[in-house]
Amino acid sequence: MVVRGPAYLWNCHPEACPELAEGRERRISFSEAYDQVRRELAAAAVPEPKAAEVFAAHLEILEDPMLKEAVEAELEAGKPELEALDAACSGICAMFSEIDDEYLRARVDDVRDVFGRLRNAMLGISRRHEVPAGSVIVAEELLPSDTAEIDFSSIAGILCRRGSSTSHVCIIAHSKGVPIQLGVDISGISDGDLVSVDDPMVGPSSIESKVRAAGRKLYVNAGSVDDIRAAIAAGADGIGLFRTEFLFLGRSAMPTREEQKALYKEALEACAGKPLTVRLLDVGGDKALPYLPMPREDNPFLGLRGVRFLLAHTELLEAQLGAIADAASAVPGSQVRVMIPMVCTVEEIRRVREMLNQPLELGIMVETPAAVLDAASLAAECDFFSIGTNDLTQYVMAADRGNSAVAGLYDPMSPAVRRAVELAVSAAHASGIPVGICGELASDPRATDFLLSAGLDSLSLSRL
Ligand code: PEP
Ligand code: MG
Repeated sequence: MVVRGPAYLWNCHPEACPELAEGRERRISFSEAYDQVRRELAAAAVPEPKAAEVFAAHLEILEDPMLKEAVEAELEAGKPELEALDAACSGICAMFSEIDDEYLRARVDDVRDVFGRLRNAMLGISRRHEVPAGSVIVAEELLPSDTAEIDFSSIAGILCRRGSSTSHVCIIAHSKGVPIQLGVDISGISDGDLVSVDDPMVGPSSIESKVRAAGRKLYVNAGSVDDIRAAIAAGADGIGLFRTEFLFLGRSAMPTREEQKALYKEALEACAGKPLTVRLLDVGGDKALPYLPMPREDNPFLGLRGVRFLLAHTELLEAQLGAIADAASAVPGSQVRVMIPMVCTVEEIRRVREMLNQPLELGIMVETPAAVLDAASLAAECDFFSIGTNDLTQYVMAADRGNSAVAGLYDPMSPAVRRAVELAVSAAHASGIPVGICGELASDPRATDFLLSAGLDSLSLSRL
């Protein structure tokens, strides 16, 4: 999203504004400043609980004996007070920067913030901001306590020269839907200049807006009922892939038909009348079930997986189909779509339909080259297609989806896979059935234009 507004220069840190700090004499001593900052932090009255947390964390940093000890050590070494403060700050920040954890490394900002506050107190610099509504805050950098002072509901955006995507200001700005741009050359911007902020992370995602503009359906993939609730709350048109294997994995015994029914019922209720595409158990390949014998295979991805496994364990398939049908009739107004994984032949669809024995929508994942090449025959046997580009890519390119040695070949946007997608779409449409995509490619903004122009009726994203 791009926003524009008049610049408000937020130059308050001595580091950010050397002209403020240079040549200034300290007004109060380190220990006086320490007491003053402690009082300020303890009394900080801020409207937001998140901001209050910042000040509480800063008070903790201030009161950590390490801070005082570091400054005192520099003073004992004979440094003047301001220099001692800066040296202690650099030493502690350097220690934090060594930590092998991005989140903790980003907390260096909090340490610098506390030292900046002490420095300002020693110099007698007070920080008061009256940011006019609709402004774009322009800063060298915004530290956590700056962030706590900002009223995000009234500003248009933020431009900063420094800062990382994990910095406090970035996280808060994004959570409030405020665009922020980092790494911007802000020299030359004066107060009141009209500036713009370009932040692709804010605003309706490019995928969402393009799909909506093209009048196609926006679905979400889910692995749990909580995922479904979140997707529907975020405005999804339905669930394009409900991966039921999570129900079956990580257990010591098969879930009964009753247990499954309860879960599908909950899932349908969470969908609130929007379509729920329940994919039949997709195990085999790299996914095993501890309570079912799965003989070792030399090529498990070419072995007994997906619908092949189900047709080899019909008791399992029967229980699942029965549970889905029971749940559908228990939730009036629900729209359930049953989806078969790893289909290669017409026969596989016919056998599942026979066992389903209910007038429910039945579709297939198009994720094998056989399904693409014989798409016309398969489309005549089912009610919808959903293209699974995760597997389709590995089978079309003969490149294992988990093998980094062939990751270069595993490209869902390679000409061969794109051609496969186009063939599946035209076969579906020739047969008058809808076709969507539920592979990860749907969530890649670089693929959206291609997928829409290929004619897909729905995109099912990993999240909204
Ligand atoms: C796919 O293969 O594209 C897909 C969506 O299924 P999974 O990733 O679960 O194999
Ligand atoms: Mg798959």
